[in-house]
Amino acid sequence: MPPIAPVRGTHDLLPDASAAWQWLLDTHRRVAGEHGYRLADTPVFEHTELFERGVGVGTDVVDKEMYTFADRAGRSLTLRPEGTAGMVRAVLGAHLTQHERPVRVHYVGPMFRHDRPQKGRYRQFAQVGVECIGERSPYLDAEVIEVGWRFLRALGIDDVTLQVNSLGDPADRARYRAALRAYYEPLRDQLCADCRRRLDVNPLRLLDCKRDAAHAERAPRLEDSLSATSAQFFDTVLDGLRDAAIPWTRNWRLVRGLDYYVDTAFEYWHSSLEGAQNALGGGGRYDGLAEVLGFAATPGIGYAFGIERLLLIAEQGGSLPPSPPAAEVVVCSLEPGQATAAAALARGLRDAAVRTVLDTSERKLGAKLGAADRLGARFCVLVGSDEAMAHEATLRDLRERTQERVSAAELGDRVRRALHPTPDAP
Ligand code: AMP
Repeated sequence: MPPIAPVRGTHDLLPDASAAWQWLLDTHRRVAGEHGYRLADTPVFEHTELFERGVGVGTDVVDKEMYTFADRAGRSLTLRPEGTAGMVRAVLGAHLTQHERPVRVHYVGPMFRHDRPQKGRYRQFAQVGVECIGERSPYLDAEVIEVGWRFLRALGIDDVTLQVNSLGDPADRARYRAALRAYYEPLRDQLCADCRRRLDVNPLRLLDCKRDAAHAERAPRLEDSLSATSAQFFDTVLDGLRDAAIPWTRNWRLVRGLDYYVDTAFEYWHSSLEGAQNALGGGGRYDGLAEVLGFAATPGIGYAFGIERLLLIAEQGGSLPPSPPAAEVVVCSLEPGQATAAAALARGLRDAAVRTVLDTSERKLGAKLGAADRLGARFCVLVGSDEAMAHEATLRDLRERTQERVSAAELGDRVRRALHPTPDAP
């Protein structure tokens, strides 16, 4: 029988990579926390309707990429493809904005999309993100972008360009859609089949097409359709970025096709990621989303980063922290009769907060020492009948290649001090 393989597009987090993963989560929690964002979590599956309405029928994510299934009661459920719709449902469902405006939350968790797997693109991947829900202010747009920017800095990731655009309000976009249709209609016969459909269904998405990029280059620009109010809102966001010394590039093709997205849209691009995969993360203002989900109109803005992509870039840039050893100490009994004494010594070391592994094998001493070395341990504690009788242990320093007898009662303190020496008090 062949061994069972992982599902295509999924990946495992193995112990050697987990320190980097944890570091990334800790860094995000710290940076978001420094701006008043607190952790919140929502379920991995939701009613399909949440995403059909909250991400939008007509988007690739909803039309082609969702993992949707009927549960045993026949209800249609979907593994979440993104985090915003669920978080808005959770925050507004719990009436949090009645006590606190805006509500600032951050989250982390797996997302599921039936994408075509390739480097940096998975079917189960993880995101960290923030949402700022309940208040409309250009200063909050600048704040959210800055949280993301500082997060990248804290990860040691530079070489990032911030792409920003304003989508204006729904009336601006209605004007823009009309302008796009007027431009593209005479070109209809030259467009690819997808774009001919987009022209009828969602003309803004024409700007995304790789094949018809030359047409998009000459197309009218959204900024020419912005009202004075929308333009002013965006100018204030850009001023905020300038004040925070965050450089940006205005990308007029950065659009989202759905009407509940308004004003600011942004992406963080990294030079070493290619093509459609060049975004480390992105976000935008979604003031119309709450209503689409059946709640009272409530503004909001947020971002999401893909964790796998961030780690890929951090690794290339050499900013990943080293993986700590699995154990600081390995305790080995020298004879089978000393297993209990060895276990007691290990317990004492753990009581002193030393990361300790008990070698339960019946290998020869040389093999045990080799295994301890491979685990990255600094010390081996050896116990034979001699040591056990004297309530002692042999402490072997694997780095210095020295060893000495230590009383069992003092072992924990002794090892902890050797591993984590505290500077002398003044
Ligand atoms: P989005 O929710 O589509 O704006 O994506 C936000 C970020 O999530 C992207 O910039 C990527 O870093 C990450 N991401 C999106 N889709 C995938 C995927 N299939 N695999 C890995 N990361 C992804």
